[in-house]
Amino acid sequence: MADLGTAERPLRVAIVGSGPSGFYAAAPLLKGETVCTVDMFERLPTLFGLVRGGVAPDHPKIRNVTKVYEKIARHERFTLFANVKVGEDITIEELRRHYDAVIFACGAETDRRLGITGEDLPGSHTATAFVGWYNGHPDYRDLLFDLSQEVAVVVGVGNVAMDVARILAKTVDELRHTDIAQHALDALAESKVREIHVVGRRGAAQAAFTPIEIKEMGALDACDPVVDPAQLALDPVSEQELSDKNKAKNLEHLRAFAERTPAKPRRMHFHFLAGPVEIRGEGRVESMLLGRNQLEGDTPFKLRARPTGETYELPCGLVFRSIGYRGVPIPGVPFDDRWGGIPNEEGRVTENGAPVQGLYAVGWIKRGPSGIIGTNKPDSLETVKCLLEDVPALSPCEIPSTRAVHDLLCGRGVRVVTLEDWARIDAAEVAAGEAVGKPRERFTRVEEMLRVLEG
Ligand code: NAP
Repeated sequence: MADLGTAERPLRVAIVGSGPSGFYAAAPLLKGETVCTVDMFERLPTLFGLVRGGVAPDHPKIRNVTKVYEKIARHERFTLFANVKVGEDITIEELRRHYDAVIFACGAETDRRLGITGEDLPGSHTATAFVGWYNGHPDYRDLLFDLSQEVAVVVGVGNVAMDVARILAKTVDELRHTDIAQHALDALAESKVREIHVVGRRGAAQAAFTPIEIKEMGALDACDPVVDPAQLALDPVSEQELSDKNKAKNLEHLRAFAERTPAKPRRMHFHFLAGPVEIRGEGRVESMLLGRNQLEGDTPFKLRARPTGETYELPCGLVFRSIGYRGVPIPGVPFDDRWGGIPNEEGRVTENGAPVQGLYAVGWIKRGPSGIIGTNKPDSLETVKCLLEDVPALSPCEIPSTRAVHDLLCGRGVRVVTLEDWARIDAAEVAAGEAVGKPRERFTRVEEMLRVLEG
């Protein structure tokens, strides 16, 4: 039998997930000396993971990266299997029978939990749900957010929290010409939210947001940022953290905010050293109990929040928990429940510390939910290098045929969405957007997407 990775017997790789980390794994596999075929599996009929479903609609430039992914997908040895749920429509064992290696690029699809009383009261939502809702993700299409409330609390001071707070703060005119889902635009047009409280458990110097994102809060049409200057007084260890240019810039923006006199109808209040203790309410969110924290530790970038025991109550009608994402286990694949990802060494999936032959991971499911889109490029490359090193030791799969995978899925009644199909869905969305002055009008239900393909 011909060696794996040759023109006679290309290395067959399945990539599960069509977000940035998946495409950054596909690219070096298709470009390298080892001849590979890449079949990408995606559970939705649409592509690009968080670039489509996570990036905020008012940040369109970030979305342009999909052009790079489209080019990768056009490679002759790339095949798309979208609208296919791995673990449900096709099992891991079946994938292993048809591919020499499987790379998991399935991201972190759910949220970390605060673990406090009242977390699940009506009116308390995850950032994932809100972001998915305004981006028209089918999983979140039918959620309702009670935007008749005037006060919202956003827990967490990362960039996702900034997205959530900013979308709540923007006027409908600031969002109208973005590709925000129409149902979300309609709901936000009626929003009564006037006060947005953004809550960080550590100090201003430790905030996880980046300078561009915080700066934007000072340039909103109808919302002023409000910062108490006393909250920006830093202890000596936090001062040392300003050696990080981003942290120093963040502080500059926050200090400029602290000097402003708010005059716009909406306000975004920043609270630092405030930890969520309890969400209170009779049948729905009515307030949040926050504990005042102090910083503990003497090593820069390693400071922890410690409750002082003092608390204060913030009346509010909505809570958005934006404290980081978590991966979801896939049946048949090792999972580490402590941090919510696939255990691995440099991308080689491990079980009880030993590598599992033929299984690899990239992106957030590999390293946890951190970093920007570009962070995934070196991360995926690291995994691909390991995979290619392992080729001589890989056992060739039993059925090296993409056609066979297609037939298996079709036999089960799965409507596989191909690359050509996706191009039709994409074109239909763009055309619908043109009609209303938006870059695209998203389909928000799987049935709507598949209906485009019926003609
Ligand atoms: P993140 O950057 O890790 O921020 C999570 C925030 O939640 C931190 O402020 C963290 O505080 C806080 N937190 C965690 N556990 C908490 C708890 N139990 N109680 C209170 N607060 C808690 O995560 P993210 O905002 O979800 O973003 C994920 C990644 O995507 C980041 O790398 C982000 O930069 C990136 N992203 C980038 C953009 C962009 O470039 N525009 C947009 C969106 C997301 P501590 O620091 O104290 O842990």
